[in-house]
Amino acid sequence: MTQAAQTAPAAEAPARDLFSKFDPIIAERQALLDSGVRDPFAIVMDEVKSPTLAVIKGKETILLGTYNYMGMTFDPDVVQAGKDALDRFGAGTTGSRVLNGTYQGHKEVEDALKEFYGTSSAMVFSTGYQANLGMISTLAGKGDYVVLDADSHASIYDGCFLGDAEIVRFRHNSVEDLDKRLGRLPADALKLVVLEGVYSMLGDVAPLPEMVAAVRKHPNCMILVDEAHGMGFFGPHGRGVYEEQGVEKDIDFVVGTFSKSVGTVGGFCVSNHPKFEILRLVCRPYVFTASLPPSVVATAATSIRKLMHAHNKRAHLWENSKRLHGGLREMGFKLGTDTPQSAIIAVILNDQAQAVAMWQALLEGGLYVNMARPPATPAGTFLLRCSLCAEHSAEQVETILEMFRAAGKATGAIA
Ligand code: PMP
Repeated sequence: MTQAAQTAPAAEAPARDLFSKFDPIIAERQALLDSGVRDPFAIVMDEVKSPTLAVIKGKETILLGTYNYMGMTFDPDVVQAGKDALDRFGAGTTGSRVLNGTYQGHKEVEDALKEFYGTSSAMVFSTGYQANLGMISTLAGKGDYVVLDADSHASIYDGCFLGDAEIVRFRHNSVEDLDKRLGRLPADALKLVVLEGVYSMLGDVAPLPEMVAAVRKHPNCMILVDEAHGMGFFGPHGRGVYEEQGVEKDIDFVVGTFSKSVGTVGGFCVSNHPKFEILRLVCRPYVFTASLPPSVVATAATSIRKLMHAHNKRAHLWENSKRLHGGLREMGFKLGTDTPQSAIIAVILNDQAQAVAMWQALLEGGLYVNMARPPATPAGTFLLRCSLCAEHSAEQVETILEMFRAAGKATGAIA
């Protein structure tokens, strides 16, 4: 491409084309930016100093809006493993797992996962999104049913669309509605029930034992739990909410990601199903994409092995979650849950204008949180999602609380 082509101004859009359906969101976004606020969805981290500190537009900023729950991104062993693999195996595999893209490191990370979860099989995907897409679409096809929580992650819904299964939604975390909807399905139909340990928008946890009991009343059901936000933090081995709540034997598939507690990128599914390995040949989002780079699987394997013994980190993360939740509640903020249930604490604001004003005030004060809005959020809510890290010090949590007090008063979000 020539220099002139790269810098040419955008052409005038025609009155009607395939972009026309986006006109309402383009207008809404423009109105927001015209009000003079910074774009919450265009933040650039100029420098990242640690799991909890970055430089954004020249300002040192505390990070309270990452999925770095266990703070593994800068763990010296993890970083070293990545560097060594880069030297030994190169920058990328340039191929699918089923052709030239399975290296020793991919086997090692799957072994680490089998050990971490105590399962007979583990299959690694290039992202958690693809793990859900692949597992759900391959397990449940035309004529099958996927029964899912209405607040399920986008990757779960997209897995249903790709597989062409019938989607049956139940009210968020409602055991009664799950039971009712399963009861209406044909007894001989095959069903996949998809649950999440932690729901990432409000930070609430699923009542898995009650849900499992409801599912077991109905024939031909398998259960998949997405533990994206539970891995590392919940349960004696850090396996997730399903371990903490004691339903390990009832869950057929656990899906997870390396992009949160593990601190790198990638996705996976673990299972004890005797036919599990066949999925490597029939799961399109596994077969038709390149495998993870060797440096990434090496960092993941090292991190997963360290997470098995991260009891102190888990304990400190709980302390952080309790302190932040209690402090924000005391100040009068409306939170996503009455009690601290996970490492995610959602601060619910009245509307988009208040949420953005609060988000900007926090950023200017030196704190980054996630701004979340519909359709990602349930029931049209605007919220600021705070996610804690095991590497946030107790002092940092106090600083964060003071930043919330100042921003809340300046924007009128609290009295
Ligand atoms: N499942 C859930 C519940 C998630 O929140 C996410 C990511 N936010 C994913 C799956 C996808 O994970 P990844 O980032 O690895 O694609």
